[in-house]
Amino acid sequence: MSRSVSILGATGSVGRQTLDVIAQHASKFQIVALTAGSNVDMLIQQARAFKPKFVAIADEAAYPRLKEALADMPAIAVAGGAKAVVEAACLDTDITVAAIVGVAGLVPVMEAIKRGKTVAFANKETLVAAGNIMMDAVAKYGTTLLPIDSEHNAIFQVLHGHDLKGLRRIVLTASGGPFREWSTERMKKATPEQAVAHPTWSMGQKISVDSATLMNKALEVIEAHHLFALPSAKIDVVIHPQSVVHGMAEYADGSFLAQMGPADMRTPITVCLGWPERIDTSGARMDVMALSKLEFSAPDTVRFPALRLVRQVLADAGLASAILFNTANEVAVAAFLKRTIGFCDILDNIERMLNDSHKPAISTLEDILNFDAQIRETMSETIKNAA
Ligand code: NAD
Ligand code: MG
Repeated sequence: MSRSVSILGATGSVGRQTLDVIAQHASKFQIVALTAGSNVDMLIQQARAFKPKFVAIADEAAYPRLKEALADMPAIAVAGGAKAVVEAACLDTDITVAAIVGVAGLVPVMEAIKRGKTVAFANKETLVAAGNIMMDAVAKYGTTLLPIDSEHNAIFQVLHGHDLKGLRRIVLTASGGPFREWSTERMKKATPEQAVAHPTWSMGQKISVDSATLMNKALEVIEAHHLFALPSAKIDVVIHPQSVVHGMAEYADGSFLAQMGPADMRTPITVCLGWPERIDTSGARMDVMALSKLEFSAPDTVRFPALRLVRQVLADAGLASAILFNTANEVAVAAFLKRTIGFCDILDNIERMLNDSHKPAISTLEDILNFDAQIRETMSETIKNAA
């Protein structure tokens, strides 16, 4: 096996873990491009270690430093600005790892899809926003979309090779996050530090807050709806605090197939990088004894309204509700991390936006970007006025 790989969002939690797997298989993978948002020091370190052909930093202000630090490595082309990240996505590679956080990854991931190779996909916000527009592009260009998100990677594995006419439903597991047992009153006072302290997974800040609100699971229901072409009614969520079972499929004959593994993203990342070969992970291995105490329970949609709202979003035809849901969340989470709003205000604001906003018809990438920009403005205004 010899594969070329580009990583969009190389300096993040998924990006770094991807490089960790690749470092263990130096003879199998060559890095073509690495991109980052603003973490220039880490990008410099990664470029020196992995010697890609191209590195791009979205933050223009960080570009001079990147350029200077890599001046002694003329084989590495260096560029800055959002356009440079898109340029990186356009370079020919066998696998593009989509690991940017948020809608910021949408244009680059759509460019990567257009090349018709493999996209190992973590950046769920982009699929939530672009839905059928992204899936139509995947079909049109013959792209292989492999899910890195652990639950979707699990579902991908338990559906693979099966007759899906006999699929009754899929079940996504959720750890329940750090506030699984907290009352709403207590959650109202939760701090960013408490929200990002995830009990089982170590992840970036935004997805950690999303795990605490269960917005992450809500976005994952929409992600599964598009990835596996399943209606809302065939996608269930169950709370499973141990994060050992990542996803299950129930078939018509009563069989359940489940994928299990360590709570370590390097397993799903390795599945994607090696697929269809099974190669060694650089991550943790699971002890079978981890299976001796597995708990499952129904989610509480009163304390965690995201799981109620997502059903409303999926019942709406068109993409506008999903874009609202996702972008309003991005803005609200950023405001919570800056302590401008409280933890429970995140979902309160999203619900208000969802109910009060006009929902335009969305049929192109440009429509998505325009509507996304409009929601960002309205949400920021609402939050500022409330503060
Ligand atoms: P992170 O915040 O750790 O990393 C995000 C990456 O995106 C960084 O490299 C950052 O520099 C880059 N970035 C941020 N803003 C950018 C911009 N405007 N333009 C270009 N690049 C930008 O996030 P993460 O936890 O690695 O998550 C990445 C994606 O993967 C998210 O969509 C998340 O939901 C998904 N995901 C993450 C995990 C996990 O374990 N971390 C698990 C499943 C899915
Ligand atoms: Mg997940």
